[in-house]
Amino acid sequence: MSTKYGGYMGKVLKINVSTREVTEYPWSDEERRLFIGGKSMAAKILGDNLTSQTKPFSAENLLVITTGPLTGTGAPSSSRFNVSTLSPQTKIITSSNCGGNFGYYLKKAGLDGLVIEGRSETPLWLHIRNGEVVFNDAADMWGLKTGPAQKALDERLAAENGKPVKNGKLVIGPAGENQVLYSAIISNERVAGRGGTGAVMGWKNIKAITASGNQQVRVAEPEKMKALNKKWFKYLRSHPLTGDQLPRLGTAGLVSTMQMNGQLSTKNYNYGRYDDFELVNGETLAEKYNIVNKGCLTCPIKCARTVEVDGKPVKGPELETLGLLGGGILNNDLEAILKWNYELDELGMDTISTASTLAYAMEAREKGLWDNGLAFGETEDISKIWEDIAYRRGIGDELANGSRWLAEKYGGKEFAINAKGLELAAYEPRRAVGLGLGYAVSNRGGCHLNGGYMILLEGLSMNVDPQTPHGKPDMTVMFQDLMEMVSAAGQCLFTTYAFFPPPLISKPHAWYTRAFCKAVPVIGPVLRLLNKFPGMLCFNIPVVFNQSKALKYATGMPMNFGKFFKAGKRSYTLERHINTRFGIRRKDDSLPARLTDVPQIEGDEKTRVPLERMKTVYYHARGWTQDAVPTPRTLKKLGLAGLASYKETCEAFRRGEFQDKPAGRSAGAGKEGA
Ligand code: SF4
Repeated sequence: MSTKYGGYMGKVLKINVSTREVTEYPWSDEERRLFIGGKSMAAKILGDNLTSQTKPFSAENLLVITTGPLTGTGAPSSSRFNVSTLSPQTKIITSSNCGGNFGYYLKKAGLDGLVIEGRSETPLWLHIRNGEVVFNDAADMWGLKTGPAQKALDERLAAENGKPVKNGKLVIGPAGENQVLYSAIISNERVAGRGGTGAVMGWKNIKAITASGNQQVRVAEPEKMKALNKKWFKYLRSHPLTGDQLPRLGTAGLVSTMQMNGQLSTKNYNYGRYDDFELVNGETLAEKYNIVNKGCLTCPIKCARTVEVDGKPVKGPELETLGLLGGGILNNDLEAILKWNYELDELGMDTISTASTLAYAMEAREKGLWDNGLAFGETEDISKIWEDIAYRRGIGDELANGSRWLAEKYGGKEFAINAKGLELAAYEPRRAVGLGLGYAVSNRGGCHLNGGYMILLEGLSMNVDPQTPHGKPDMTVMFQDLMEMVSAAGQCLFTTYAFFPPPLISKPHAWYTRAFCKAVPVIGPVLRLLNKFPGMLCFNIPVVFNQSKALKYATGMPMNFGKFFKAGKRSYTLERHINTRFGIRRKDDSLPARLTDVPQIEGDEKTRVPLERMKTVYYHARGWTQDAVPTPRTLKKLGLAGLASYKETCEAFRRGEFQDKPAGRSAGAGKEGA
């Protein structure tokens, strides 16, 4: 099915790995206009195909791999791809956005996406070449770690073609093969880490997917796109965050700021500061171990870094890994973290969920709930624990199920640090309550990015009062929607760091910066109005927000800031609409009681997350019921009345199945919800 729009290849393939049948997945221009690409496109495909009865490990579950229209257009940081599926970890839909070069090569292969169903009887390697799918036996690769597996793929492609073949790769490691619930998909050195997409790929018996070809992405207005990209690269390179902090220290540079603000999760989120933070922060990493900065294709930010471990160059850790495998488990050995980071990538496991699950287990032992031999600060045998998890041996077999599962078995839900089954990143939300709301309501579970990343305002780069709930729900909605569409368009979310004009970042004490920070908590009603009527924003924002214009030049669709924003809203609401099918309600938008009931600073009630209050405003701003269900009116307003499930929802509302009142004290709300 071709397309009138630029930026797309106009073809999505459906691959049944049980029958080895390949067909074109119907994806119309109307769907392109409404859902753009990436995670939004994947949500529509999952919504159209999954029922409430679909199980994550089943032939009916789909692994949907999508690109966005900016991928391959030369737009900055746009080589991304997205993987979505019904998550075995959270039992709701998940999406994982990843850099590297697979997205770029999938488009070179002539495709916008892959929809994979079924289950192969034997291990499989799928090679996509110029729109054709080759089914290769992967029995000899099964069991390989992700590095050797990627090397083997290059060797096999070179042997078949008589010369090296430029290609993009996706592989799983032993963790995915053994269905560790938080196993990842690896692409070069980048990781689609969250939600267990690797476990679904492993269950389907797919070891690897490669893509190659010589197709070109056609854009609607090439000259304008080229000129915009030139300016955009320049702006990102000159911005204090995307042109200095991220290239210089990567996300690791945030550790020191979080420490200063009391936002660095320590000892399984018992505290917000770690005494030994200087031994495991970005500055020490840069000084002692950094060899070279690296970046994904077409990225001027280059936030990744290569470090040296035992004389070998390996990928450096991100902030989340440093925080959770540092202070999170009371470990101050930075070299050990570098080694573990490498080992976890090789095994194909999400470092956030692995580390947080380990921290839960350590605390469960400390509290006498589970005699597992693990203890905070005792880290000599941790590499063996990773292997035990990946191969599901001994206690590793239980750790492989994540903190929610463990807390259900052993108790201690109040300190199993996850939301909807997805472990939180290293940012402590009791000292950034807007982030706390984001973690709780995020569609894919405890994710700072999908939650709107309020902490960027609450201390990481600006000084909006981190303890006030005022203005945060409306701001969260706005950021979630904008980031949703940045991601759907195929761009890295780190480009959103540059939304704030440079003077607001580089001059924190200037009157205008202080005025901005003071204004955020009181402009909630204005933001709510904009959230309700995004059409009012019928213009493009120059310099700091190039995404809407880029989408217009790439695709030829009518696009401005308001339409871009509305498309993000549509996508976010669609994801929630689908998750409603899997039983998600207000009670599930929760945090562990440690974060809502126990002040981080003893006696200071402000240092806990006032979650229920913020949720009430948040649902209102979203046009969802107070039980977190998108109403038929909201669905219709966002152009979702054409969904097959829209009618069912209308009928369910008519039957009174969805209440529009708070569901009372929620499971995670504890004292705060009372
Ligand atoms: S900012 Fe970092 S993760 Fe994002 S595209 Fe650039 S190098 Fe990749």
